[in-house]
Amino acid sequence: MSIIKSIFNLKCPRCRKGNLFEVNNPYRIKKLNVMNDNCSVCQQKFVIEPGFYLGAAYVSYALQVLVMVITYLTLSSFTNFSVNWIISSIAIIVLLVAPYFIVLSRSFWISFFVSFDSNFKNN
Ligand SMILES: [Zn+2]
Repeated sequence: MSIIKSIFNLKCPRCRKGNLFEVNNPYRIKKLNVMNDNCSVCQQKFVIEPGFYLGAAYVSYALQVLVMVITYLTLSSFTNFSVNWIISSIAIIVLLVAPYFIVLSRSFWISFFVSFDSNFKNN
C-alpha cells in the first residue's frame, strides 16, 4: 500500500495495515475523533505526545479552504448562480466533507512524523 493510499484509508503509517481510528467511517459522528491508542498490527503509539494532533487542525483548515476556493471558482465560472447560491453551496459542501477532512488531516499529520517500516515485526 502506498503512503497516499495509507493516508486516505486512515491506516497506521508504520505498517500501513492497522486502523488509526476505532471506527473507520468518519460519518459515524459520535466516534469521529476516537483513535486507537496503539496500532493493532505493529503496536505503534498513535498519540505520540499530548496535543500532538493540534497541527492536524491546520491541515484540516487548509483542506477546507482549498475546497471552498475550488467550489467558488467552479460555480462562478460554469454556472449562473447568484453569490448567495454560491455561498450556500460552499457551506453545504464544506459541511459534507468536514468529518472526512478531520480524520484525514490526523492521518496526514501522523504520517508526516512516523515513517513506514516494512520490517516492523523485528524493530
Ligand atoms: Zn501499525
